Amino acid sequence: MGEADGGPIVKITGIRTYRVPPRWLFLKIETDGGYHGWGEAVLEGHAAGAEATTRELADLLIGRDPRRINDIWQMLYRNGCYRGGPLLMTAISGIDTALWDLLGKIHATPIHALLGGGQRDRVRTYTWIGGDSPTDLIQHALHALEQGFDAVKFNATGAVPMIGGVAAIDETVARVGAVRDAVGTRLDLALDFHGRVHTPTTTQLLRELEPFRPMWVEDPVPASNPGAVIEAARSTSIPIAVGERVHTRAEFLTLLESRAIRILNPDPAHIGGISETLRLAGTAESYDVAVAPHCPLGPIALAACLQIDAVAYNAVIQEQSLGIHYNTGSDLLDYVLDSPFEYTDGTLTIPTGPGLGVELNEAALAQASSTPHDWRAPIWRHPDNSIAEW
Ligand SMILES: [Mg+2]
Repeated sequence: MGEADGGPIVKITGIRTYRVPPRWLFLKIETDGGYHGWGEAVLEGHAAGAEATTRELADLLIGRDPRRINDIWQMLYRNGCYRGGPLLMTAISGIDTALWDLLGKIHATPIHALLGGGQRDRVRTYTWIGGDSPTDLIQHALHALEQGFDAVKFNATGAVPMIGGVAAIDETVARVGAVRDAVGTRLDLALDFHGRVHTPTTTQLLRELEPFRPMWVEDPVPASNPGAVIEAARSTSIPIAVGERVHTRAEFLTLLESRAIRILNPDPAHIGGISETLRLAGTAESYDVAVAPHCPLGPIALAACLQIDAVAYNAVIQEQSLGIHYNTGSDLLDYVLDSPFEYTDGTLTIPTGPGLGVELNEAALAQASSTPHDWRAPIWRHPDNSIAEW
């Protein structure tokens, strides 16, 4: 390995991981010369597995030039026979993001400048709203408006039976209708089905939601069945979003080639980092499909998304986790030094500091990771005691 750009030789000397509340895993790649880069390598509910996989892959990096991002990505992706899947792609994502952060820091410039420069200065964002009743949801929607957001997302349903769920359908229609009535056209509404609804019910539910003109419905059926997602998308005028649980480009291509999916919401922390998300966004652009990067995670994941949003024309709206229901006991900015996240009129400004533009408080991470979290997804059951999709 030689010098990448005529500058000083830089070699990776170590990696550290920090598994910290609420449910995150940060990765630090260290080099000689004092440079370091941050990645976020968590798979929600599988943090210990993601940590082990990340360390296993990162061990291959010791002594390598961190500036050879493409070479390292391909080595991690193609070596070892097995590829794809949430755990491996999450580990690659954390490493890839940390390498981009490092490269930016070495050159003292934001990542988007290394990618040809930003084509937007800020990106539209939305906030999650929740609540058990329509009254709660309306209250949270109105609060979002007061905060300057013009778009929100909420879970449209609880557990839904595979068939015969007229009560569940009516409840969802009532929730969505109540919010739409309360906010009029001041808020765009993204509805997350979260893969909780199955094909026999989805088509009917989507039809009944059409009058409320959602911005999109996300994961209308479990994304593990792309044929069913495509069928659902073809049944409705509501734009369908899918991608947070899709992990390889070939799987995304099946969705794009259907010409039925309107929005991809890939998670840059689960599909191969900044590098792979940009490749995917370019492919989606050629299908005239929008990208809404998934990010219910921490500050490094969000910072990576914002660098992508800066350069990807079709990355038009960004998820973010400030105050999200998962962040109990801690929140987006807890480990951040000098937050670069500026919320203005429902947008997030693209950070302009070196690399990702965000630095973490390592002492706070070390302290918090001394008792690593073990966050797990809840287990839901139907009335007959069978497992319900969460
Ligand atoms: Mg979702």
